[in-house]
Formats: sequence, C-alpha cells, structure tokens
Amino acid sequence: LESSGSVIDRQSTENLRNKDNQHYLHPWEDIGSFGENQRTVAVGGKGIYLYDSEGNRLIDGPGGMWCTQIGYGRKEMAEVIARQIMRTPYYSPFNLTNDVSAVLAEKLAQMTPGDLNTVFFTTGGSTAVDSALRFVSFYNNCKGRPEKKKIISRQDAYHGSTYLSASASGKTRDKNFQDTAADIISFIGSPNPFRRPVGMSEEEFRDAKVKELEDRILELGPANVAAFIAEPILASGGVVIPPAGYHKMCLDICRKYDVLYISDEVVTGFGRLGHWFASEKVFDIVPDIITCAKGMTSGYQPLGACIVSDNLIAEISGNTGKGTIFSNGYTYSGHPVACAAALKNIEIMEQEKILEHVRETEPYFLQKVKELEDIPIVGNVRGQGLMACVECLLDPDKQSSLALDYEMGGRIDKKCQAMGLIVRPIINMNVMSPPLIITREQIDEMVQILRRGIEQTMDQLVKDGLW
Ligand code: PMP
Repeated sequence: LESSGSVIDRQSTENLRNKDNQHYLHPWEDIGSFGENQRTVAVGGKGIYLYDSEGNRLIDGPGGMWCTQIGYGRKEMAEVIARQIMRTPYYSPFNLTNDVSAVLAEKLAQMTPGDLNTVFFTTGGSTAVDSALRFVSFYNNCKGRPEKKKIISRQDAYHGSTYLSASASGKTRDKNFQDTAADIISFIGSPNPFRRPVGMSEEEFRDAKVKELEDRILELGPANVAAFIAEPILASGGVVIPPAGYHKMCLDICRKYDVLYISDEVVTGFGRLGHWFASEKVFDIVPDIITCAKGMTSGYQPLGACIVSDNLIAEISGNTGKGTIFSNGYTYSGHPVACAAALKNIEIMEQEKILEHVRETEPYFLQKVKELEDIPIVGNVRGQGLMACVECLLDPDKQSSLALDYEMGGRIDKKCQAMGLIVRPIINMNVMSPPLIITREQIDEMVQILRRGIEQTMDQLVKDGLW
C-alpha cells in the first residue's frame, strides 16, 4: 500500500472508527443510530480491488458509486492531476476560461448525440441535474411563458441531493423527514417490467406507462409542463430496465406537447452501457439535455456537466438577446484539476478500448449474475451493460413487505464483505456496477462470493423462521 505521507498513516483502525463515529456524518446517515457504525475503512485500491485498514482485499462490486470505470491506482491519473495542480490549480470560471476546461467542453460536445454541444460544468451529478432544471425554468421565462414550469419525474428515480434534484427524485423512503419542491414536480410510475400486473405483457405495460406520461401532461395542461426527466435505466431505484421502445415513445409524447426531455446519464454515461452515452446508442433518443458526472473522471476528481442542445441556446438568445444572464454556477464549476482528470480518463478509456471491452463482456456478466436466480430467495436478477441488480424476496408471490423490513440487501452485503466483496445494498436489493476493466475471471470471483453471501443470508432466514 502507498503511504499517504501524512498523519493518517499512524492511525489504528479503532482510532479511525472512533473519529468516524464521533464526527463524520455520512450521506444517508441514520441519525437515530449515529455513532454506532463500524464502517470498513478504505485505505487503498488497485484495479477492481479496494484495501481496508485491516489488510483485507475487497472487490469493488458497486464501482464506488457507479463511477470507478478505469479502476484504482492509475499512475497516469495521479501524474496528470499533480501536473495540473502545479500548472493552474484553480481560477474563477466566472471571468476567465482555462485550457483544460475548454478542451474538455469540446470533447464532450463531440461525444454527445445530436446538437447537444453546449456544456455547463458542475461539481457532480446533483448539481448537474439542479442546473438542468434551473436552465429549463430560465428557458421558459426567457420564452415569455413563466407558467410552463412543471417537471414530470418517475417513482424510484434518483436525481440527486440538492433541494431541486432531491425534489425530482422519486424514492418515497428518502422523503420521510424531508421537505421538497412538491408543487413543481409530478411523479408517474416506474417502468419496472418485473412489477407489472400479472397477465400483462411487457408491451402492454410499456404502452400503459407511456400513456401515464401523456395523461399527466394533459392533466397538468401542456402549457404548464416544462420537462420530463428520466434516467435511461433507473439506477439507484434498482437497475430498472424499461421495456423496449419506452424512452422513444416518451420522447415522442414530449415532442407532441412541447415538453423538454432531460436524460439523466449520471450513471449510464461514460461506458457503463458500452457507449459514451446511452441515450442515442442504446435507447435511440436524442434528448434536449443530458446530465452526467461520475464515470467522467472515474471518481478521481468530482465533476459533472449539464449538456444542452444548441437549439435551446439559440431560442433563448433569439428571444431575449444580450443581457439574458443564466445566473447559475459554482466557484468550482469545471474545476481545472477535475477537467484534467476527465480528459486523461477519457484518453485511457479510448486507448484501452474500454467501451469495446464492456460490449464484449456484457453477455458473460449478465449470464453469470442471472444464474443466481436459482437461489430460492432471489426473486429477480436484471441488468444491462455492466450494471445489475439482484432482488431478494421472502415470498413466492414476490410482493412481501417483510422483504423490505428485513433489509436483506444490507445483510447480504455484510456477509459478502466478510468474504472479500462489496455489493451495494438498497433495501431488499443488491446492485453491482463494477469497474469497467473487470475480467471474466474477476466476474466469476465476484459472483461466487455473492452466491455464498445470499445463501448464508438464506440460512439465517431459515434459522429465524422467516423462510
Ligand atoms: N443522477 C443519478 C442518476 C444518480 O445516480 C446520481 C447519484 N447516484 C445523481 C444524479 C447525483 O449525483 P451526485 O451524487 O454526484 O451528486
């Protein structure tokens, strides 16, 4: 392991855990049990593996948080980041530009579909979505239709953790103790084929979900609906893969009623589905706005972007002309060190043909995870590209709420971590989105541990009299 060269090298695991428990409020922390966590302490990484403070090697099943595309320990990344810090660690993007951010903006414009050529840099995914939603509001104000403000989103969507992006997120559990901009956002159902009514075909289900979008636009009044926001695959909602044709049909509905389509590619961008962006190449749509982050730097630096169609920019400037200031942005919008990391990350992905590797590896990965469906508590395994979800259920009818209360995903993750694998738990599900460099042998290793973790959890259920 690399030494950090600082005070943290002299800390024991117990010491670190104490500091963590006493002072570090983590994302989605259960405040009711704050200070009681015994978190694994990450201290190093190489390739798809993470190392903890006790010397254990763990496969990074979730790819950090859907983002460690090229894996850990890349010297080229470290060198480029260090060099950029010595060149220009920072300057305000409000009044100057800088070489790396300008080059990256052009590169992103080349990678995105259609005329999505205007890049607004942010600090991550939430701020990318927040910026997209603020842009849509600004756009309609500029067009002289301030009433066109409603955003349609979907149940089980996750779009971020700023006030507005959290408001557009549709996971009800996350709203238990939080206020949101509920007057602006309207939710329709998730297109999860696994949860479709018994006896309904996937096509019928898809048509019903698309009709829901149209009905909602009509109910709210097309003059009041500004945009539809959708992840190509609902990621944190449990890797929900919509029925074939769903996005294209939703886009057609949006076009019919002059509603903008925002494709949130924070997870699906940068190779996760075997392409730079999934909207056009996988789902056959060219949206009006794409949001992205995460895999853009493989997690080496925090960065996001909201990429807007030229057409929208032209409409605004045509309407209001000079002095139409889009007052949105951050001190660290398009931070040069983060942009340098993104450029290097993209270069590495090109040189190592990572997109091709994902497309070649996808069938093997999906076949291996699908084999887990023979375990009785596994209700459904689904995936696309290098992302997958294993959904466990307690009853054969696949609807039991007990499955949710039992936090099966957390139990499975704990068992797997003890055997050298992290699998991100989401209630009764475990999601995987490993680094894109993963090999077939490593997929075998990952799935074997996951199988043992699920089987051990099932044994526990039997002991507890729940199965
Ligand atoms: N959109 C999607 C689809 C996401 O999955 C996430 C994060 N998981 C976000 C937005 C928010 O990104 P960030 O956490 O970088 O702010």
